[in-house]
Amino acid sequence: MGAFSFLSRVLHTKPSNYSKLLILVSVSSGGLIAYAEAHSNNETKIVEQSQPEPKKKKVVVLGTGWASISFLKDLDVSSYDVQVVSPRNYFAFTPLLPSVTCGTVEARSIVEPIRNILKKGNGKIQFWEAECLKIDAKEKKVHCRSHIDENLVGKNDFSLDYDYLIVAVGARVNTFNTPGVLEYCHFLKEVEDAQRIRRAVIDCFEKAVLPGLSDEERRTNLHFVIVGGGPTGIEFAAELHDFVHEDLVRIYPGVKDLAKITIIQSGDHILNTFDERISTFAERKFQRDGIEVLTGCRVVSVSDKFINMKVKATAENVKVPHGMVVWSTGVGTRPVVTDFMEQIGQTNRRALATDEWLRVKGCEGAYALGDCATVDQRKIMEDITTIFKAADKDNSGTLTVDEFEDVIEDIIIRYPQVELYVKSKHLLEVVDLLRDYEGNKQGEIDIEGFKLALSHVDSQTKSLPATAQVAAQQGAYLSSCFNRWEQCKSNPEGPRRFKSSGRHEFRPFRYRHLGQFAPLGGDQAAAELPGDWVSMGRSTQWLWYSVYASKQVSWRTRILVVADWTRRYIFGRDSSRI
Ligand code: FAD
Ligand code: MG
Repeated sequence: MGAFSFLSRVLHTKPSNYSKLLILVSVSSGGLIAYAEAHSNNETKIVEQSQPEPKKKKVVVLGTGWASISFLKDLDVSSYDVQVVSPRNYFAFTPLLPSVTCGTVEARSIVEPIRNILKKGNGKIQFWEAECLKIDAKEKKVHCRSHIDENLVGKNDFSLDYDYLIVAVGARVNTFNTPGVLEYCHFLKEVEDAQRIRRAVIDCFEKAVLPGLSDEERRTNLHFVIVGGGPTGIEFAAELHDFVHEDLVRIYPGVKDLAKITIIQSGDHILNTFDERISTFAERKFQRDGIEVLTGCRVVSVSDKFINMKVKATAENVKVPHGMVVWSTGVGTRPVVTDFMEQIGQTNRRALATDEWLRVKGCEGAYALGDCATVDQRKIMEDITTIFKAADKDNSGTLTVDEFEDVIEDIIIRYPQVELYVKSKHLLEVVDLLRDYEGNKQGEIDIEGFKLALSHVDSQTKSLPATAQVAAQQGAYLSSCFNRWEQCKSNPEGPRRFKSSGRHEFRPFRYRHLGQFAPLGGDQAAAELPGDWVSMGRSTQWLWYSVYASKQVSWRTRILVVADWTRRYIFGRDSSRI
């Protein structure tokens, strides 16, 4: 937006907004634009303007999380009539949720109103605050219900037709049907969960200092248990430790030695999806900090006062008294997705399966991204005969190195596991796969030799983790496909189709892992960076600060988050129970 058009907008806003706008101008132009847009009172106009044009394809997007926001951010809305449905009218920056549980960062600093984000599409994207209850795959409709106060007039249920459906509803917590978890545990998935945890921690301290309690009772109230040693559980444990030892012990001196944090993990190590060096570093740091880590223990049930767990090594049942429990053990499928999967014959699956172009398998016109979906990477051995035939140009029944080289690029794009396998075997090039057992080049190779050469390649197929990084990359990939649809139809850019003629319109989705962080408290963090690079300690914490500040969706949240970090350094965390 140019300075002139911006100023003219400022002059058209209500006078009461001037002062706020002027304060913000000195802070950041990006933040200013977001703020000005949030206050220009033209929401009704937007709905009027965006009457669907008949020839535009209707796109319905379910969700306002990482995947959908990244899809909507760059989507060219001139070609589509886009409607977004989500029960949440904001985007939440989930990596900072653990910081919200202890007040290091305030809840409102990590959320951005969805209407602020969508306004960048000139009001052409419509948003409906409602939950999708059912996807009707046959009729290409979604049935939705708004949960806005029932006392307001008008219907709460409505249906939308679509040509393309983008399912990005995320996942729900997974209790593994453990008794008592839903009733007595806290979760850390949504902003409201983090706010509830913050209040519960303070409640535990206030209860522990009441007169007339025995030391044992105080100790129980101050026993914080975290079930699950993955990144979320670990980060919460670290935050809580800092909160207790940097802030709460000073204001609750009477019970400062009674607070205890325990992590229960079923595997042998915490952070087991990270490099071994990081999980060892984290275990040692937690040991020094006095955070108890119980590995090899499975929680069997939870009650209001106790956790029952089984120690795997001894098969012994142990009862652990607790003040509060946070359950953080992975994710499961939402009911609307389970129902959709049943309709399209995807029963017995962990998540909604898509092909490598993120198209839902068995349902034309539907795409799925993020935590609710999983990409089914096609196995090369399923197509080995067709690939061989397509590569054998002279129909000799054998492949020469030249014939193989001709199709290598398409193979690598279509089956990325080939490149991973070549790397894992420390080979220089893909053609080296055709060498014989002694490593000698073979002149020609027949179908059996070809099958043998590629027989272990599929072992490198990996499913993608349920992370914001994957979800955001999928959203950006899909919007770039939608934006170039016409262009790629006439000029396909994807790999050749081995089963038929021609090429795929688009390249398949390819995930690029940019590394991952594990903040460990005490201003120390660990990071796994691309190229097998591991970094740990205080400098990594500063890297974490800069990466998470830069990844914020708006200048407004960026400034709020940095201000919260600064506030915490100067004044500590706020322990009011609000
Ligand atoms: P979500 O972001 O969960 O969004 C789902 C959206 O769908 C929401 O807007 C929801 O309201 C909406 N919705 C739900 N049901 C319906 C319905 N029936 N109809 C319509 N809309 C619906 N990942 C990282 O990469 N790095 C991290 O550091 C990191 N830290 C994390 C910390 C915590 C505490 C948590 C909980 C997660 C963290 N993650 C992290 C994981 C990351 O948040 C998820 O992988 C990511 O949010 C997935 O994006 P998504 O768009 O699939 O789902
Ligand atoms: Mg040949």
